[in-house]
Amino acid sequence: AALEGAESATSFATGMAAISTTLFALLSPSQRAVTVRDAYGGTYLLFTQILPRFGIQCHVCETDDHDAIEASIMSGCDVLYLESPTNPTLKVLDLARLIKAAHAAKAIAIIDNTFATPINQNPIALGADLVIHSATKYLGGHGDVLGGVVCGHRDLIERIYHYRELIGPALDARSASLLLRSLKTLGLRIERQNENALALARFLERHPAVKQVHYPGLESNPGHQIAKRQMSGFGGVLSFEVKGGMDALARFLPRLRYAYMAANLGQVETIVGPPALTSHVELTEAERAAAGITEGLVRYAVGIEDLADLQADLEAALACI
Ligand code: PLP
Repeated sequence: AALEGAESATSFATGMAAISTTLFALLSPSQRAVTVRDAYGGTYLLFTQILPRFGIQCHVCETDDHDAIEASIMSGCDVLYLESPTNPTLKVLDLARLIKAAHAAKAIAIIDNTFATPINQNPIALGADLVIHSATKYLGGHGDVLGGVVCGHRDLIERIYHYRELIGPALDARSASLLLRSLKTLGLRIERQNENALALARFLERHPAVKQVHYPGLESNPGHQIAKRQMSGFGGVLSFEVKGGMDALARFLPRLRYAYMAANLGQVETIVGPPALTSHVELTEAERAAAGITEGLVRYAVGIEDLADLQADLEAALACI
């Protein structure tokens, strides 16, 4: 709560526990939720497969179309649920603009701030009612703890806390103590990850084996101007598309010496993975294509290693494509 400038907060066993408990606590049958296509894979499935089974109407908008999101909000909205930057293509949404539209419709505005972290972005200062984190990522930071957090208005947190008590996905005491340990270094870790990610994004953008780099800190990124306004750093996650699709990835990924292949992100060690086979594996091919998740796309979640080591590692592996 202190890091996000919120009145109150409560914790959960995982990020998905935080997201699902919050949505079930706040939404009732016949109410309407608006979200975007590029949400985390699990969140997207919650909106498209689970919530509709309980009579909750869910409208998934194209992520880059602010006008369409506003129009959907205006046609009836009880909860607006957004992420920015998004997973895994790092699209940037104008949070203040969309939160304002949500409030005009009397909706609750919820932002998943996992990718940005509270060091780089504070959605409550931009008007959000609730901010969610998968603490499994940057808040934990060491790959040894699962958790989730919701921060925001005291009355909303009380409703969510009550629901959490009845459903049961509480954060266990050992994980809570590991998270408190991790928060002591959050500022230092994020500062280093911001620096590493920006430098590597610039390096990759110039590399001939790379088709495209997604990182909000790049001047060439379509969301750069909005990101500059609403973020104080651009975060530790970037994604890029190698030329040659899956075949190229099969040569590139095993040659990386500094990056672990895993579905996680936000740790002190660099983690790499193709979203088509990890975070978004449960989506259909058509859904992945619509979200811009091509076969050659790599999500690269930068750690706190020496920049020179990471760059040399990428250079050697890319030479194999
Ligand atoms: N939100 C975002 C943006 C994520 O990337 C993830 C997981 O990758 C989650 C939520 C879910 O968190 P957890 O893995 O802790 O359940």
